[in-house]
Amino acid sequence: DRPALPAPVSLTPVGIIESDFPDKFGIPRQPGLATAARATLVLVPPYDDPLTVRGLSAFSHLWLTFVFHQSPERWTPLVRPPRLGGNTRVGVFASRSTHRPNRLGLSLVELIDIDTSRGVRLTLGGVDLVSGTPVLDIKPYLPWAESRPEARAGFAPGTPPTLAVGLSPEAEAVLARRPDGDKLRELIRQVLAQDPRPAYRRGAEARIYGVRLRDVDVRFQALEVPDGPTRLEVVEI
Ligand code: SAM
Repeated sequence: DRPALPAPVSLTPVGIIESDFPDKFGIPRQPGLATAARATLVLVPPYDDPLTVRGLSAFSHLWLTFVFHQSPERWTPLVRPPRLGGNTRVGVFASRSTHRPNRLGLSLVELIDIDTSRGVRLTLGGVDLVSGTPVLDIKPYLPWAESRPEARAGFAPGTPPTLAVGLSPEAEAVLARRPDGDKLRELIRQVLAQDPRPAYRRGAEARIYGVRLRDVDVRFQALEVPDGPTRLEVVEI
């Protein structure tokens, strides 16, 4: 006989993300793929009491539990992971899909700074969250308990393949004029290397894509390389 259905629970966000990603398009699939990405997690009352983060700066990485608030509420038992080309379907619980019951996400991120001068603001590195993402919980990462390099990772056995990324002289000139130019170049390279285009779009294309990062719109194109894989070229920032 089936267990009695548990009553629904209501959860309240403890903070909101402000990240380098104003849009979902272009965000890497997992945090470690864009270590140059930065975000601020702004805690909201009553959780923005500095007492809540006492001792947290002793940890270098945090687990964030959050809501995929830009995903629809409906879910399906099967999903189509981009990693499998977007056609093969696996069970939603065998995936890290954003379309899932309760829309819960889990990201391991780097803790860079904690500012308690006005409320609580955590500076985070390597995030895969769009600005506005509501965060439900923060926990310190315990490598001795949680790092499992020996684990089997099914159809996602390692980091996805990356593409070479070039920047036009015009794009380089824009970066040269910015105080954060080097960091922004690193972020652009890491994000484009993941080939943000839809899974069915591979190979060279005349089409110009745009991805918004921080306060810029990065326009890029996929170029054919005579005897090598497609290369992405930033044509304009
Ligand atoms: N690391 C998390 C996990 O495993 O639960 C997220 C993995 S999910 C594949 C990462 C993608 O979620 C990003 O590439 C982005 O497109 C999407 N995303 C990020 N923030 C979101 C939000 N607030 N609502 C919906 N989708 C979001």
